[in-house]
This record gives sequence, structure tokens and C-alpha cells, in this order.
Amino acid sequence: MITSTTGPQPADFADVRATNLAVVLRFVREHAPCSRADIAASTGLNKATVSSLVADLIDRRLVRETGLTENRVGRPATMLVLDGSPYAAIGVEINVDTVSAVATDLAGERLLTWRRSFSGGESVNQGMAAVGAIIRRVVNRMAKEERQVLGLAVAVPGLIDVQGTVRIAPNLGWHDADIGGDLAKALRDPGFPVQVDNDANLGALAEQRFGAHAGASDLVYLTGELGVGAGIILDGRLRRGGRGYSGEIGHVQLDPEGPVCRCGRRGCLEAMAGIGAVLRRDPSPAEIQIEIEEVVRLARAGDTGTLGTLGEVGRSLGRGVSILANLLNPEVVILGGYYVPLAPWLLPGVHEEVGSRVIAAEAGGLQVVASTLGYDAAALGGAARVLDSVDSGRLPGGLSRIP
Ligand SMILES: [Zn+2]
Repeated sequence: MITSTTGPQPADFADVRATNLAVVLRFVREHAPCSRADIAASTGLNKATVSSLVADLIDRRLVRETGLTENRVGRPATMLVLDGSPYAAIGVEINVDTVSAVATDLAGERLLTWRRSFSGGESVNQGMAAVGAIIRRVVNRMAKEERQVLGLAVAVPGLIDVQGTVRIAPNLGWHDADIGGDLAKALRDPGFPVQVDNDANLGALAEQRFGAHAGASDLVYLTGELGVGAGIILDGRLRRGGRGYSGEIGHVQLDPEGPVCRCGRRGCLEAMAGIGAVLRRDPSPAEIQIEIEEVVRLARAGDTGTLGTLGEVGRSLGRGVSILANLLNPEVVILGGYYVPLAPWLLPGVHEEVGSRVIAAEAGGLQVVASTLGYDAAALGGAARVLDSVDSGRLPGGLSRIP
């Protein structure tokens, strides 16, 4: 036997099994209904191992047999699908004036979608008490349905470090806040993990799992809220950067002579192509929705001033998207938030700038589209993050193992 202090160490048996369980679970998620033989053929695991792993997943109620048979050459086989009926993943988005909550089952089917008005402005503690109360109601609802909560991920607009601490959330007035710890306390140590992430990152995860371009391995999601942030997925993985601060495209300078940004710098993308630029002032959060509806009405009516502003904002946005395209070569950039209702008037300007500024032919294959997920994309992304952690091997324990 050759031993080495630097070479690969023998993997722990439990780790190998957990990894293989996750491999089988992901295969069933992507290919259901499928048979044990399909799993063995595609994963390279032998049939006895697959049978044992599937038995374990059935015990954990993550997978179930459908009784269907496949209609191919050879013996009919029992088909497998995701079960997950006893589980729930919860995502929450905290925004300036609303809290959204989404719960899904293991297969990603929506169980609940709530939106509540919220004023988090006074203090972090008051804000967390209000958010905690909403989450407790969601958790109680899941308990009534006899579902075990697999986890909770909370989206916050701001700089969130890799540990999940909110370093600065300017629009909420929060800084250096351990929201995850506060929420775990407010939920009285709930027995499931509580994660905190940036709203753009979770929006990107929602698109990757549930959006019209689900499965795209190189995708950027742009929030179109008061701030503009990018959630970046490259080679199939969310890219947070060294300390978690990637994606601050909103503060890339487009014009040194441009308008002053809320960050104090001049000519940032956010100042030239954020919602404030559309409305031509910093609006009060509670009024944004109504004001955007008015902009849409005026644009539909052909109001020249409105069309001029939207054209200009679209071109500024296009310059920002061109930077992303030259730097990252994404397949798709997805416009979220308030960009969605404005997309018909923004996209022509975006395409014009992308066409002239991206050096690669055909903009490197880039498509720019509006999100189809609606205003709760980041909350849905919270649920997606929980499901991602199950897919990568953090499986809930066996519920009712029969001896
Ligand atoms: Zn700025």
C-alpha cells in the first residue's frame, strides 16, 4: 500500500454514501420518471448499489415508486419519481417596503406565496421581529401540513459577506447585522438552517432552477429595484467572489460627468439606469409600484417625454450589460424587478448598445430578456438555495425506516 501525506485521503464511507445518494436524487429530479436501471446506466454505479441507495431515498421519502412501467425493450421496470411531500423549502425576500415569502416542496412545486407590507426602517431589531413573525406563520402552516422544513434562505438587498452577515443594506438602513442569527433566535432555534444572501444572487438561483432559461450554465440576473445588482452564475455555479461582494454592477461608472449616485460617486449605472433614473428622482419606496404603472401607461399612450427617458435609460442599461458580456460571456442576461414591466421600451436601447459594444460576434451568443418569475423571484431563489443544498448532499434524515 502506498501512503502519502499529500496525496488523496481515503474518503469516509458515510461521505461516499451521502454523495451517491445526492447523485441519484439529482438524476431522479432531472430524468423522472426513470428506472433503477436508467440510474445505473447513466451514473456508472452498479445495480446493487443503486437499489440500496434508492431504498434509502424511499425511506427518507425523497423518492417514490409510481408503479408505471417503461415501454422499452426488456422487462418492465418500476419507475421512480421525486416524492418530497413531507418537506418544504422556504425563501423570504426582505425589501424596503415588503416582505415576500415562498414555500416549495422538494420538487419545486409552490406551496405558498405571501407578500406583506413591511417597514424595516426603524431598527434592525424591529425589522427582524416583524420578519420573524411572518416566518413563524409560514413555518406553522408547513407544520399543519405535516411538512418538515428543510431550510430557510432570506434575500436582503445589500452587501452580504460569505458568512451571511449583512455588511450594508443602504435602502434598509442596516449595517453589520447578523440577520441569520437574529432570525434563528426569533424562531427559537428552529432546527433547520437559516441562510442570508444577496437578493441578486438568489434571483439568479431562482432563474437557474425555475426560470424560462432554467439550466443555463452562464446566466446573469439583474435586479431592477431601487438598486441594481447582478447575480452571476458561471459554469453552473453562483459566483460570490472572495468575500461575497461580487455583482455590484450598479456602481460601475458609465459616465464621469454623470449624475450623482446614492453611493456618493458620479455616473454609476444605478444612477443612470436604475428605477430612480426612470422616474427622474429618488422615489419613496411605497410609491414606486404606482409610479412605474404610470410610466407604463404613458409609454403605451406614446408620450414622447416618457419614451425619450426610457430610450435613454435602456441605452445606459445596455452599456452596463455590454460590460457584463465582454467580461463574462453569459448566454443570457435576465432583467428582473421593475425592469420587467418596462422591458418592451428598455430592450431596444439595450440591444442597440450591446450590438455595438460587445467585441465578440453576435455578442458572444448573448440574449437579454425580461424575467418571467415576477416580483418574488428572490424569495423563490431562497427556496431554490435550500433545494440546491439538498441536491448537493445535505439530505434530511430517514423519517420512518422500517426494520
Ligand atoms: Zn454608485
